[in-house]
Amino acid sequence: SKHITGHTGLLCLLGSPVAHSVSPEMHNEACDQLGLDYTYLAFDVPEDKMPEAVQGLRTMGARGWNITMPGKNIMCKLADKVSPASEISGACNTIVNDNGVLTAYTTDGVGFMRAVAENGVDIIGKKMTLLGAGGAATAILVQAALDGVAEINVFNVRDNFFSRAEEIVAKLNERTECKVTLHDFDDPEILRASIADSAILVNGTSVGMAPNVDRTIITDTSMFHKDLFVFDVIYNPQETRLLREAKEAGCRTGNGMYMLLYQGAASFKLWTGEEMPVEIIKEKYFS
Ligand code: NDP
Repeated sequence: SKHITGHTGLLCLLGSPVAHSVSPEMHNEACDQLGLDYTYLAFDVPEDKMPEAVQGLRTMGARGWNITMPGKNIMCKLADKVSPASEISGACNTIVNDNGVLTAYTTDGVGFMRAVAENGVDIIGKKMTLLGAGGAATAILVQAALDGVAEINVFNVRDNFFSRAEEIVAKLNERTECKVTLHDFDDPEILRASIADSAILVNGTSVGMAPNVDRTIITDTSMFHKDLFVFDVIYNPQETRLLREAKEAGCRTGNGMYMLLYQGAASFKLWTGEEMPVEIIKEKYFS
């Protein structure tokens, strides 16, 4: 077990709920492996208590923290500085505290880009079809556009996030080279045409997540083609119906597990300056 002293630095997760999160194990293991003197704890903090929590962490000199639902938007407003991706999306999952100056970052999209690249898939300069405009989907959208994906068609499957997505899409078209278009989901032929010349199809929604494992947005599997890489943000189950059917149609696939791992690795790097030993973490917590 860890030897905590008066020098030990604090890292943590804020959100509600947090008890299920793999982040404490991932970050504590990585610190142990590298001999870094930090400890990472999970604190269950509702949205309205975030300002108080941040005040306390700042006063106590915590090195940084992750934020999960429902704090990702309000945390951006509590930070002193905001990364370009967090500014565009209005959300963050990571705070770095440099002597009382808090900078907000979002590493979910970074984790996504690395997970795709590690599958041997190159999407830079290519076209993406993205299902959903919630938190995970937006993080993917913004990072992909910033990193050089050429064209992204976003399909908003219901209505909750449409107006927010419109603003984000407008910013991306203004500030990046990526051509981003937001579509309603009412015409399956537009979706079919988009997938037909996409290098990657991403499910950024919770459709297909346990316990509703029999659900999928792509019910017409003739939309799949063998040059398509299909990625699902969901990690429970590891193989969603979408991924199973895509695989059956000859597509390569990737799930949300390594996106989760690599968002953690990116946060870890921001706090410590070190590369997370991801192979060890994969073996212990992601297999
Ligand atoms: P949000 O609530 O922010 O977004 C949910 C998205 O799913 C919205 O686009 C929503 O559409 C859509 N959606 C939900 N239910 C339906 C439905 N019945 N039909 C059509 N669309 C639907 O959630 P998150 O973005 O935080 O999480 C989404 C998924 O991503 C979860 O499964 C979560 O576990 C996973 N995730 C994975 C991460 C990773 O690192 N791998 C990181 C974060 C999340 P609408 O706007 O119309 O409501």
